[in-house]
Amino acid sequence: MRPQILFPLFAPTTALPGVGRHAARLLERLAGPSVADLLWHLPTGIIDRRHMPKLADAVPGAVATLALRIDAHVPGRTPRHPYKVRCSDDTGFLHLVYFNARPDYLQRSLPVGARRIVSGRVELFNDERQITHPDHVVPPEELDKVSGIEPVYGLTAGLSPRLLAKAMASALARAPELPEWLDPSLVARERWAGWRASLAAAHAPAGPADLEPTTAARRRLAYDELLANQLALGLVRLNQRRLPGRSLCGDGRLTAAATAALPFALTASQQAAFAEIAGDLAADRRMLRLLQGDVGSGKTVVALLAMLTAVECGAQAALMAPTEILARQHYATIEPLAAAAGVRLGSLTGRDKGKARERVLGALVDGALDLVVGTHALFQDEVAFRDLAVAVIDEQHRFGVHQRLTLAAKGKGVDVLVMTATPIPRTLMLTAYGDLDVSRLTEKPAGRKPVDTRVLPLDRLDDVIAGVMRALRNDAKVYWVCPLVEESEQLDVAAAVERQRQLEATLGHPVGLVHGKMKAAEKDKVMEAFARGGLGLLVATTVIEVGVDVPAATVMVIEHAERFGLAQLHQLRGRIGRGDRPSTCLLVYQGPLGETARARLEIMRETEDGFRIAEEDLRLRGAGEVLGTRQSGMPTFKLADLAVHEALLQTARADARLLLDQDPTLSSPRAEALRVLLYLFERDAAVRYLRSG
Ligand code: ADP
Ligand code: MG
Repeated sequence: MRPQILFPLFAPTTALPGVGRHAARLLERLAGPSVADLLWHLPTGIIDRRHMPKLADAVPGAVATLALRIDAHVPGRTPRHPYKVRCSDDTGFLHLVYFNARPDYLQRSLPVGARRIVSGRVELFNDERQITHPDHVVPPEELDKVSGIEPVYGLTAGLSPRLLAKAMASALARAPELPEWLDPSLVARERWAGWRASLAAAHAPAGPADLEPTTAARRRLAYDELLANQLALGLVRLNQRRLPGRSLCGDGRLTAAATAALPFALTASQQAAFAEIAGDLAADRRMLRLLQGDVGSGKTVVALLAMLTAVECGAQAALMAPTEILARQHYATIEPLAAAAGVRLGSLTGRDKGKARERVLGALVDGALDLVVGTHALFQDEVAFRDLAVAVIDEQHRFGVHQRLTLAAKGKGVDVLVMTATPIPRTLMLTAYGDLDVSRLTEKPAGRKPVDTRVLPLDRLDDVIAGVMRALRNDAKVYWVCPLVEESEQLDVAAAVERQRQLEATLGHPVGLVHGKMKAAEKDKVMEAFARGGLGLLVATTVIEVGVDVPAATVMVIEHAERFGLAQLHQLRGRIGRGDRPSTCLLVYQGPLGETARARLEIMRETEDGFRIAEEDLRLRGAGEVLGTRQSGMPTFKLADLAVHEALLQTARADARLLLDQDPTLSSPRAEALRVLLYLFERDAAVRYLRSG
């Protein structure tokens, strides 16, 4: 249960004075539903209101705080004209300008003859000074409230800075003093304040330097977040280690039969990876290993060998994929090999209903099936195994740690292999997986040709289409990828639909279309026609990103390549160059290109090395451009910025490790505070591994 001390932070923002349902919706869109979410929304700028000139000295274009007398109200001639309030001091006059004003309100708050402190940006209009919609208007005794340095926050449409500032102030006031969870020597070395004081400082910048991620306050907050991350991962791992495992020593009978049935030889990387996995399986502790390999590096075969080892020991194994399409593809890859080894294979996806589903569920329980390939459907409570020993999870980052554990819980001492095609930089690996054992497939299967990547401006689209036409005449399979429009999947789809229509008209060929709004069955049908049927050209939104294998595809056009992140471009391009024919990737961009976009396309042209691309991606992200982190599914941090705080991550990792080594049950006094930290960052699942007291 969440500690009581955190209740005020996890209250909905409607608990804040002045925040109603409407404002709460806006705040949720901006930061999240809770008070804590709001507090993680740190300022991005400042407004200095300390400048308090006389009117005659007020510089147009600058923010000023002025002491004025209200002289007269000048309603607009028509409702479309602004309502003006004339004010003055002993050096001159100025108009406050209000559009869509509520006159009664203005007359009440700005009575003629009264004195007011007004703060806002001074403008010159027809040679007269004015302030349009002043930021603050307060009576003279409240001068101190408005004449300082004010934090500026990112906003969302409909949310006024004033409302946000007010909500933020109440949120800060609600923030409780929390027990110190950090190691005192670290706090001393870094000269950090406590959590609450750091939070308050981060929200009260005294100058531009205080907005940097390297200030003590922001570093402290970032460290807290990273420590929660590392501690949670450490606990999961510790728990995994603590549970009894089992030793799976296969006799090699089935793996040999499957390997013999392969139309190719395993690469050295594949052999090495399987040897590492076999070592884990044979050990009597639980395996938790990540198999990392670029798209097309041949992870599935390695996974199958791991699964067959379980079957050699009389147990069962499951492979789970993030989508229907991928599950079916894995099934298709594995089926002939399983048959060659005389192993019984089933599949279970969300689409299996009624009798068919019952049959698979029954066969898993009574052991009539040795292997099963499926989707999320495998997580369901009704799914039970006679004896599950190995679970393989493909594209793990699309699933949570929790789901990984759910599957592992369906057997005794289940060994878990996680596969990812995302060549994650080491830093990110650490945040996503902690100290996980890793095997990497570093070579492409023999016979693969490099992809010829070219970068072209959109105004050469005609050339691109002509090239596609030539390729189609040579029986090539061509992907045409339309970009993701961040705000609207609707627009996305519309662009893809339009492109398909246009290409069909120009080429006089049928053109396929897949996008995220289609039903799974429809999507599969089109993919099937492209993979094995007569369909030569497929227009797609990024739904093809993950794992789909069409070895005959040799051309890919990526439209608006400048809108994609590096990781995504790399994933997409990995769809081609999978067969033995040379492939071409055309990155079509719309200029002018920003510096970062240019660098991304240049890297894509230069290399196909996923690990190098991943490192560059992280480096470029540091340049301040937000890339497709959400798509990549890696954990995102609210306070930590890995491009800046990498050293803190390393410290947090060491700290978490030491902590768990010395106090694996977390029963020291510091543990109580750490529990609060875990809850604060919503690592509730990990807290369950803390034995109480
Ligand atoms: P990944 O999942 O790593 O993207 P897959 O396991 O889907 O890659 O393999 C991609 C393709 O390469 C498949 O068609 C597979 O049969 C083939 N393949 C796997 N290993 C080898 C190998 N050693 N030599 C040649 N082809 C291979
Ligand atoms: Mg794969």
